[in-house]
Amino acid sequence: GTAEALKDFEKSKVYMADLESGLHYLLRVELATHQTLEGEELKTFKDFVTVVAKLFPGRQSVVKLLETLLEWLVSLPLEKIPFDAILDLVNNKMRISGMFLSDQLQWVGCQGSRVGLRGYPCSLWTLFHVLTVQAASRPDALANTGLEENPKAVLQTMRKYIVNFFGCQECGKHFEEMAVASLPQVKSVDQAVLWLWRKHNQVNGRLAGTMSEDPHFPKTQWPSPDLCPTCHEEQDGIHVWNEDKVLMFLKQHYGAANISPKHMY
Ligand code: FAD
Repeated sequence: GTAEALKDFEKSKVYMADLESGLHYLLRVELATHQTLEGEELKTFKDFVTVVAKLFPGRQSVVKLLETLLEWLVSLPLEKIPFDAILDLVNNKMRISGMFLSDQLQWVGCQGSRVGLRGYPCSLWTLFHVLTVQAASRPDALANTGLEENPKAVLQTMRKYIVNFFGCQECGKHFEEMAVASLPQVKSVDQAVLWLWRKHNQVNGRLAGTMSEDPHFPKTQWPSPDLCPTCHEEQDGIHVWNEDKVLMFLKQHYGAANISPKHMY
């Protein structure tokens, strides 16, 4: 297609428009491929809504919407929930009471140079990086959810979400293989932040130069030296990461204070 002009953005920022558009897509489009939720899928969706309701550093109206969705899911005695009921809640009841989730997709840091590139998968990575950082900086946020005391709560929820719902099944398979191999070694919320960074770089490495790559946004080992000079070191002529610096950088980059409201509807 014809190239559109790219919106103004800075790669040193995270954009709330991407996070909200991602949630919109997840709740209204991705879940719609499942007519009913039951068993493992329902449990996965409940855990996902729990994690975002408690940790999403977003607008009050969005957090309220997530909390209401969570209360409703927890209070339902049903073992099977029709997707239409979830959609009705998200679209209608919440709209009326002013709990608002933007209903247009607006990609900013996740914009692609053409349709079909970047967008939702980019926002999902971004969302989970933000959530692992929130879990590390607000240790009490998951109190009384059944997920407290588990430093891997966010990652396990992500893993289950990706396997059960993420439209790209190949991605789910790869992610599951990485989780089986190395998730058991994660013992703290800080290690969880670093684990997701490391695995994301592994995926970037695998996808560099393939059709998934947007030529305007080449896959790199992230953060590049211009974003975080101190993250990079050399030992005996070989590049090594300074993981203490990487952790500090991730907490700053994906921290609530670095999320920009620019280009929000
Ligand atoms: P993305 O990789 O989506 O990254 C988004 C943003 O995160 C970047 O712009 C950058 O700002 C930041 N970032 C980059 N690297 C890191 C890092 N290491 N740590 C923290 N932040 C970082 N596609 C496939 O074709 N095959 C797959 O197997 C596959 N597996 C996937 C598994 C998961 C769990 C997810 C969420 C997506 C997967 N995808 C896969 C999609 C793919 O990883 C990209 O999301 C997609 O190609 C869009 O790439 P992007 O250029 O927008 O950058």
